[in-house]
Amino acid sequence: MAVDITTDLTKVRNIGIMAHIDAGKTTTTERILFYTGINYKIGDTHEGSATMDWMEQEQERGITITSAATTCWWKDHQINIIDTPGHVDFTAEVERSLRVLDGAVAVFDGVAGVEPQTMTVWRQANKYAVPRMCFVNKLDRTGADFLRCVDMMVERLNSTPLVLQLPIGAEADFLGVVDLVGMRALTWRGETKMGEDYEVEEIPAELAEQAAEYREKLLETLAEADDAVMEKYLEGEELSVEELEAAIRRATLADKLNPVLCGTAFKNKGVQPLLDAVVKFLPSPLDIDAIIGHKVGDEETEISRKPADDEPFSGLAYKIASDPHLGKLIYVRVYSGKLEAGATVLNSVSGKKERIGKVYQMHANKREEIASVGAGQIVAVMGLKDTKTGHTLCDQQNPVVLESMTFPAPVIEVA
Ligand code: GDP
Repeated sequence: MAVDITTDLTKVRNIGIMAHIDAGKTTTTERILFYTGINYKIGDTHEGSATMDWMEQEQERGITITSAATTCWWKDHQINIIDTPGHVDFTAEVERSLRVLDGAVAVFDGVAGVEPQTMTVWRQANKYAVPRMCFVNKLDRTGADFLRCVDMMVERLNSTPLVLQLPIGAEADFLGVVDLVGMRALTWRGETKMGEDYEVEEIPAELAEQAAEYREKLLETLAEADDAVMEKYLEGEELSVEELEAAIRRATLADKLNPVLCGTAFKNKGVQPLLDAVVKFLPSPLDIDAIIGHKVGDEETEISRKPADDEPFSGLAYKIASDPHLGKLIYVRVYSGKLEAGATVLNSVSGKKERIGKVYQMHANKREEIASVGAGQIVAVMGLKDTKTGHTLCDQQNPVVLESMTFPAPVIEVA
């Protein structure tokens, strides 16, 4: 049955995961889906044995993330993971994906550090000032060097990394992380399962000095980016965990710095703190400025649309996929108003009316048919005939063109 999705927008995160090929984007995404569970129903919590069963089945077969936008839930927050191809040949497509996501996690290989494709995608994200966090992955590998990777972020990306964690142990003995905000150790000693299963411990004595040094660096970097922190820092006042987190969020949203976390997705170490950080530090659709479009046929006259359900509907078709069961699916980011199944809308680029067929929210292992969806959401739509990638769909009475994209529209085959 089709359901209505009305979500508190402050609890929505539209994120992309970007990486050089082989850095671990797929593995990290899989682990995120593992920890968030995928067996949720609207209004339900997302725990339960069915999720585990599904994971076991999928682990046997090897999960493939087949959707251009996969929805999952973490601690009352809805996270839409938008697929951003890392491969350099897809540059135009990456740019389109960046336009629809509000924040991103860049995954790095702890041995290789900052690689060329990440530099390319990072530059594109700079263009749209997409708030970003970094996850230095593969710390279990021989030769992994977290701090060298952080240095490379400065040298190659010209970014301002805010180191929030330090690794405990290295390579095969990588055990966990020092949390420099809470000044505690998070460790994973055994096999990891669903849920909050890291142990919270004291910072190991041999790391106490390094932790104090990097805590000081964290405060300095944050003070540079945030006046409230600077004031307290100069006065020598202590900041609470909540104050620090609020400041990290402000500075990240302003694209002044990039929080850096680390771990090994492969061994399930570090992914839960990464999810916590996505929820804490990356923007909701409400944190993004009203989108600016223009009048049809008149690029000089700007029209802005706020992310609110009572605004006229506007959305951007950002990806066309071919689903083996459903046929052509068009992924749409709703910027304002409501998108309703069965409604007739205007494609303001082609000038044609389009009837919205079925609307789906895509999960890792299933799709959910929905009757209507509000601003800030990302859904797959069936039934659109003349809509191409980059086209705007909008309310017939309130036309707007959100973007005049000239890219060719590739059809992505979904396995
Ligand atoms: P993608 O190309 O960025 O999507 O990378 P994948 O997630 O497919 O990972 C590339 C390879 O690295 C695969 O063989 C993974 O099993 C492996 N890998 C991913 N994460 C880790 C990790 O944390 N540690 C180790 N040792 N290998 C990893």
